[in-house]
Amino acid sequence: MASSDTIEKVIIIGSGPAGWTAAIYAARANLAPLVFAGRPKTVPSTVLPGGQLMMTTEVENYPGFPEGVTGPTMMSYFEQQAARFGTRIVTDKGFNPDVSNPDDGHSYSYHDCKRVDLSQKPFLVVGEDDTEYRAHSVIVATGATANWLGLENEQRLARSGGGVSACAVCDGALPVFRDKELAVVGGGDSAVEEASYLTKFASKVYMIHRRDELRASKIMAKRAHDNPKIDFLWNKVVTDVLGEDMITGVKLKDTQTGEESQQPLGGLFMAIGHTPATAFLEGQLELDEKKYIKLSEPYRSLTSVDGVFGAGDCVDSVYRQAITAAGMGCKAAIDAERWLAEKGIE
Ligand code: NAP
Repeated sequence: MASSDTIEKVIIIGSGPAGWTAAIYAARANLAPLVFAGRPKTVPSTVLPGGQLMMTTEVENYPGFPEGVTGPTMMSYFEQQAARFGTRIVTDKGFNPDVSNPDDGHSYSYHDCKRVDLSQKPFLVVGEDDTEYRAHSVIVATGATANWLGLENEQRLARSGGGVSACAVCDGALPVFRDKELAVVGGGDSAVEEASYLTKFASKVYMIHRRDELRASKIMAKRAHDNPKIDFLWNKVVTDVLGEDMITGVKLKDTQTGEESQQPLGGLFMAIGHTPATAFLEGQLELDEKKYIKLSEPYRSLTSVDGVFGAGDCVDSVYRQAITAAGMGCKAAIDAERWLAEKGIE
């Protein structure tokens, strides 16, 4: 088993807006952060490189991009900015890949973090190839993944910008969804929130739910029932998504009768919950009942383990936005920097 002799000042696990922002701040503070950007090929993968924005087409609500920007381009900018100040990224070809030209295809693969031992000091962080790294501090920014139905055509159209998304707030205002009949899958608060949001642009929004009553809180459920643009398709599950380049509709199955039907649609939004990427932290850090990392002080990034900081969607089940994740990444880097300085590690 290979192991690095160096004790890193800070290791960052995750490469969404929180991870790269933490890296930018830590690098500019001369901490030479080491980043595990992750890769989905590792099963189970801890992090998807670039996070959920890699599944997003246009990002129009991130300040500073008046014309909008695609999710992957934005993440590439974040990464290049982090690299510019000396962030090192763990890959199968060493620590310092040239990240400046992602369009020509990288000749290296990012590594995932497989395991951590936070009971040891310095902390132990094990890469996917079993290389052992030591660090005085760790920032966890592994994000959360939106749950998908897992249908082949759902994934294909989500990746190609074909009108299937897991974030109405991110994608719903795009021109492609204007005045269309759209649908949200799910019956929780997120589904109601997303459906309500979409009614600003859509001609009609169907809520497709597998039962005949919403799970959402009473006030949210009332909001959905009172909205004249929202219709409910009760007791229905989506069995296929139709359309070549752009979604044209869905196939549905009635959960009571088994009857099959089709519903024409111009867009489909999943709101069936999120799963924080924290399975590898089980027994290491305090997690809440939904497996989000518990922060020990509100508004800070401190976790239950001294020297370990949390940022982004793996600590946040409420806002889940690129901008809020980036802000938390900044806080985590500043907290780590101050913590290291207090310990005399500069
Ligand atoms: P959630 O409450 O877990 O709801 C998930 C919904 O998706 C449920 O209706 C569930 O159906 C459905 N679902 C799950 N897997 C499915 C599948 N494979 N196929 C079809 N349907 C499926 O998740 P959430 O709505 O994202 O909310 C998460 C937490 O954040 C909650 O605590 C919520 O209150 C909170 N939240 C609050 C607000 C707000 O107050 N403004 C907004 C958003 C979220 P079943 O009902 O049949 O289980």
